[in-house]
Amino acid sequence: MQISRRVQEVKPSPTLSLQARAKALKAAGEQVMSLAAGEPDFETPEHIRKAAVEAMEAGHTGYAPSAGIPPLREVIRDLYARELGLSYGDDQVVVSCGAKQCLFNAFQTLLDPDSEAVIQAPYWVSYPDQVRLCGAKPVILPAPETGLGLNHQALSKAINERTRVIVLNSPCNPSGAVLSGSDLREVARQAVEHDLIVVSDDIYDKLIYDGKKFTSVVQIEPRMKERTLLINGVSKSYAMTGWRLGYAVGPKEIIGGMRKVQDQSTSNAVTFVQHAAIAALQSPPEVVGKMVRAFDERRRRLVELLGSIEGVTCETPGGTFYSFPSVAGFLERTGSDIPDAYKLSDLLLEQERVAVMPGDPFGAPGYLRISFAASMEVIAEGCARIRRFIEDHG
Ligand code: PMP
Repeated sequence: MQISRRVQEVKPSPTLSLQARAKALKAAGEQVMSLAAGEPDFETPEHIRKAAVEAMEAGHTGYAPSAGIPPLREVIRDLYARELGLSYGDDQVVVSCGAKQCLFNAFQTLLDPDSEAVIQAPYWVSYPDQVRLCGAKPVILPAPETGLGLNHQALSKAINERTRVIVLNSPCNPSGAVLSGSDLREVARQAVEHDLIVVSDDIYDKLIYDGKKFTSVVQIEPRMKERTLLINGVSKSYAMTGWRLGYAVGPKEIIGGMRKVQDQSTSNAVTFVQHAAIAALQSPPEVVGKMVRAFDERRRRLVELLGSIEGVTCETPGGTFYSFPSVAGFLERTGSDIPDAYKLSDLLLEQERVAVMPGDPFGAPGYLRISFAASMEVIAEGCARIRRFIEDHG
């Protein structure tokens, strides 16, 4: 059977398969400490659930405009005006089935076969494969030697006449790193100089700690507004991963292209979910604030616990609900017994019943992604098991 070369190149999602294994063990009655999740462990807030039920009962169960219902598009425009001081027209907004679909539609709109998209490692697993599905080439920037931000030198080397797009993700999944002002200025400088589009995946923008606030590349350099697509959604900030609702704002030519891709693929995001998204985006700040405080406490505890294990070093993540410790020291000690973080995460699940993600599929060998979207008890027990494993094998 002939499968297209583009699809052959794409691997099944490694994050979803590890989570499935952990879930199967749990279902079989095993005490698995799950630190691999890519979603908040909170319930969707009640006022949002109610808004969905009310919308269903009011009959909002049919097709809706493909680009999103007008009142939601308006709420999104208000949000950008209020939070980032950016004004967008109605033809500059699109609502999709998750930020993931926004990204997919964006790459379909911006990339021709043989064009290139620059992606900083460590990166969210879906970017390179979504780029490959356009027949285009993901060009990965190696992580800088110091810290987990932008590799300025690698960025300027990577850009050539085929480059169309730079992908930004701050705060970053998997590293939790927040890009600095100087990182954003460098991206803006390169994008303006080489006539590139920046696709900015801001899905973790509300999950930032230490009193910091999200900054967009468009705020740093106003000329970036005409060449930046801002992508966001309700999944992470409002504990709504299963509702599948994302949105994008940006230049109207790009949004117009994304709307066409969506018209011919999924059509509108679920109609009553769009009504619930209005309730989510109009929530009092305390709704997100409460979750951020809980994540922050867990973040501190997790970093402290991981930092006390020999052979593990962990920067404090500035955002998201992921820590990204290096286990290179430990792997070096074990030599060929545990050659990489893939094997380590496999053994941790097999022998200790702790689920964590290896850094490899995120473009960062020698690291683990350990989620703190879990209770304090699970974090403490999970870390105790990781410590035991590492001490036994070191
Ligand atoms: N971008 C990043 C960086 C993510 O981590 C995720 C979810 N794991 C998404 C996008 C997709 O989010 P959504 O649920 O809105 O499709």
